Amino acid sequence: MTLAQLDLAADVKKILADLGVSEARFTGGTLSVTSPISGAEIGRLPEDSAAATAEKIEAAHKAFLEWRQVPAPKRGELIRLLGEELRAGKAALGRLVSIEVGKITSEGLGEVQEMIDICDFAVGLSRQLYGLTIATERSEHRMMETWHPLGVVGIISAFNFPVAVWSWNAALALVCGNATIWKPSEKTPLTALATQALFERAVKRFVAEGGTAPANLSTLLIGGRAIGEVLVDHPKVPLVSATGSTAMGRVVGPRLAQRFARSILELGGNNAAIVCPTADLDLTLRGVAFAAMGTAGQRCTTLRRLFVHDSVYDQLVPRLRKAYGSVAVGNPLESGTLVGPLIDKAAFANMQTALDGAKAAGGTITGGDRVDNGSENAFYVRPALVEMPSQSGPVEHETFAPILYVIKYSDFNEALALNNAVPQGLSSSIFTNNMQEAETFVSARGSDCGIANVNIGPSGAEIGGAFGGEKETGGGRESGSDAWKGYMRRSTNTINYGKTLPLAQGVKFDVE
Ligand code: NAD
Repeated sequence: MTLAQLDLAADVKKILADLGVSEARFTGGTLSVTSPISGAEIGRLPEDSAAATAEKIEAAHKAFLEWRQVPAPKRGELIRLLGEELRAGKAALGRLVSIEVGKITSEGLGEVQEMIDICDFAVGLSRQLYGLTIATERSEHRMMETWHPLGVVGIISAFNFPVAVWSWNAALALVCGNATIWKPSEKTPLTALATQALFERAVKRFVAEGGTAPANLSTLLIGGRAIGEVLVDHPKVPLVSATGSTAMGRVVGPRLAQRFARSILELGGNNAAIVCPTADLDLTLRGVAFAAMGTAGQRCTTLRRLFVHDSVYDQLVPRLRKAYGSVAVGNPLESGTLVGPLIDKAAFANMQTALDGAKAAGGTITGGDRVDNGSENAFYVRPALVEMPSQSGPVEHETFAPILYVIKYSDFNEALALNNAVPQGLSSSIFTNNMQEAETFVSARGSDCGIANVNIGPSGAEIGGAFGGEKETGGGRESGSDAWKGYMRRSTNTINYGKTLPLAQGVKFDVE
């Protein structure tokens, strides 16, 4: 079937109707959504005004006041039901992710699996929001920490993980006792409507089981940057978790700081891998290919810079060139395709600008050209492998497209310095069988990124670990480990169960 013969709008309509989303939510509005697969319009959504956004925030605040009274393990039960709804809806939501973002089928489904995984994690967490008991210097006293919910948590998400990022934040925020309000990317609001419908199904079952879930516990804002800014500036939103470009974070971070609100910033990456002399080159080839070309180079953790030791350069790079020349680019809904389309025309233009810059800086390019799939408005490209004489020009920036810059090195410390020499600090990896190199890479003098892997590419994180990066990546952490603490406030409590009042540090203050 050619792209022109695909009726993606009908496909979308059926998926949303099956999930119970009324047609009025995605037709007749002002926000046009197109599928990158063919460039065809697949929805036209009514947008929220600034006034409607403020009303939704007030309603979410009311929901928070009730929800914080529900015991955490009971809150966990709602997330358990959400996990069940996601399991039941996995095929439909996964397909919608593929249609709206252009991910290949296994990646669309994988994104929903990630949502299920974080729900499972959050259910367990709902019985583990532990605080410490701390030794006190005063007799007949007890000191402890308790963790309380914050309020309304704003979630701003990017187009490339249109639903998983919401779930990393919302599953934790909700078991922690917060209400959430979500502004998805204006490029991907349809998957957000579908996710919201699944959440509402879970709420219905939770209430039918006897649970208490206030209205507006999790709400959706449809619109662009202006609506996001209303969320960022609203005094009843104590935390905004914002995922997107560093340019967005530069605006959002200071605005939140201005009103002393908290932020979790998950911004751009410029991720590297080092291939050492002892690397297993078969494993390296597969690791590099997935990390650099998967999701058409549109992951925040996509591998963009590869430093190859000169002793293995001539063994690895020709094999990479071959893989780049032969990887299947095309309709992501067809089996066998590994690289789907870029999100839009602007992404294609950015890629070409970066390649022009690389050429001007002395790079030799394999691939990078547009693949004609019969649709003028869909942008398929052959991933580009660019051999560079040094780390300069576009190599220092994130271009959200499948471009891998390859640079030869001869000394391990030089490669480590190159890894750390960019402003971004999200993910990184090393391919080696040398223990000293591997351990140095993950040590204090090693990679300066939030994620540092050995013999695995920089992309494809699991939900169990805290996810995020340093420097211009924003410093936020989401998902596993103790990232939940970011969604709660800590209260330190000292309790005197004696009949005297000893003061700390031996201070005397006796009054008659
Ligand atoms: P983007 O910055 O264009 O948009 C992201 C979101 O921010 C959208 O919802 C957008 O409407 C909103 N936004 C933009 N300006 C805003 C403002 N001033 N106030 C409030 N909201 C605003 O990013 P994108 O093109 O959708 O996504 C790609 C980028 O996201 C890449 O840089 C990628 O590395 C990054 N990303 C980072 C992570 C991470 O976890 N670190 C994950 C996914 C994507």
